[in-house]
Amino acid sequence: LVPVITIDGPTASGKGTLASSVARALGYHTLDSGSLYRVTALAALARGVDTTDGPAMAALARGLNLRFEGERLWLDGQDVSGELRREEVGTTASRISALPELRAALYAVQLAFRRAPGLVADGRDMGTVIFPDAPLKVFLTASPAMRAERRYKQLISKGISASIDELRADLEARDERDRNRQIAPLKPAEDALLLDNSAQTVEASTAIVLQWWAQ
Ligand code: C5P
Repeated sequence: LVPVITIDGPTASGKGTLASSVARALGYHTLDSGSLYRVTALAALARGVDTTDGPAMAALARGLNLRFEGERLWLDGQDVSGELRREEVGTTASRISALPELRAALYAVQLAFRRAPGLVADGRDMGTVIFPDAPLKVFLTASPAMRAERRYKQLISKGISASIDELRADLEARDERDRNRQIAPLKPAEDALLLDNSAQTVEASTAIVLQWWAQ
């Protein structure tokens, strides 16, 4: 069976950066599962689909014409990687991710990323729902203050203005929704290893995960 490393955790904990770094070191593929919720949100906003309608959102997700190219995502032949990072898209993604029909529609899409020689998958339920047999499950955390600051710097570096207090309130609201939803709530898998990267560089976190992997 193709090996999988799962990295779950709250919003802006650095999952994507860590997943890319670990995947690069091992020569593995990556799955940024949040991008699937984001691209579904983007398509719904663009096409005026009711984002509270579970069956309609599931049908939309099943019909999406997606192409992944490394870390870039194309929708209907258009590179939407930048669009996906918009706050409105993130907030909508967070809301629709509580729809059971949508989560079911995205299940098979995610399993298909498991290809040789291996996969590093990041999200909220990679270890608990999508790849429960993964031999290494990481649950990544960082303090809300640190996560808000990272997100702030990311936006500023792209020339987008932001308020650090609003960012923090928004990410805490998203985490609350993810933790309290009925389906696939955000929580560490029973056999997950916890990693707090508040005071850790990407290189140091990568080294820890690679060391766990080698054991
Ligand atoms: O990780 P990212 O912020 O890109 O994810 C967007 C939203 O999608 C999250 O706020 C979360 O609610 C949802 N999500 C999820 N399950 C995943 C990945 C993301 O519910 N595996």
